[in-house]
Amino acid sequence: MRIEHPYEFVQGTTPLLISMPHPGLLLPDEVAGLLTSEARALPDTDWHIPQLYGFTAKMGASLVIARYSRFAVDLNRPEDDTPLYQTATTGLFPDILFDGTSIFCSGAGRNDEIKRECKERIWRPYHGKLMAELNRIKGEFGHAVLLDAHSIRGEIPRLFDGLLPDFNIGTNDGKSCAKSLSDAVVKACDASGYRHVLNGRFKGGHITRHYGQPDRAFHAVQLELAQRTYMNEQPPFDYRADVAEKVQPILQRLVQAMIDWRP
Ligand SMILES: [Zn+2]
Repeated sequence: MRIEHPYEFVQGTTPLLISMPHPGLLLPDEVAGLLTSEARALPDTDWHIPQLYGFTAKMGASLVIARYSRFAVDLNRPEDDTPLYQTATTGLFPDILFDGTSIFCSGAGRNDEIKRECKERIWRPYHGKLMAELNRIKGEFGHAVLLDAHSIRGEIPRLFDGLLPDFNIGTNDGKSCAKSLSDAVVKACDASGYRHVLNGRFKGGHITRHYGQPDRAFHAVQLELAQRTYMNEQPPFDYRADVAEKVQPILQRLVQAMIDWRP
């Protein structure tokens, strides 16, 4: 299997690392050949997240950005594929789109070799880099802050009822970071004109839960942003600079709060 650079990395100068596990558009040929045309359009991608957060490199955040699609392997799921939610969800190797339809052509599916390769060569390097960079940051600053940056369509009846708030902040019900950090993140969203919720439907996936260990000075927050705040939610999923430039100042305030935060 040909895998080229499973992630991009930008070295920062502050205690903040931003992880982007789902914007990737690459697929190994062995997976791409199995997909329906609908799945090949990668509708469940966290579209344009690196572009939306592009300003954060200048602020001094480190960035780890996935280059491969979640249809190769989902980086925000545990390696043993324990389900994250009691309600409907998708796994380490998704077989279905968020709406429940199969991603595979009739009778097709990943064999064990494909799964093993994707885990070894995409999942493990990404997590190896997150861990190494968090440790480096903690060594330099005494603590490390992780923002796991996501986005999703505002309406997906199979996954949640009604319309998702704009900013969905997840701290694993308060277990993945100090309360003062989640307070600072929530405050950055207050009076922004955007609706926000803390630990609503999205409480933080594997990355937030696994790396967020406040008693070891690792503090993690997930932000699941409703895609309508910066793009068209329907194909071809265009970035909307006119809409995005309204939400970016709020994201900047949020990122600055995470950079400035001290335990
Ligand atoms: Zn995501």
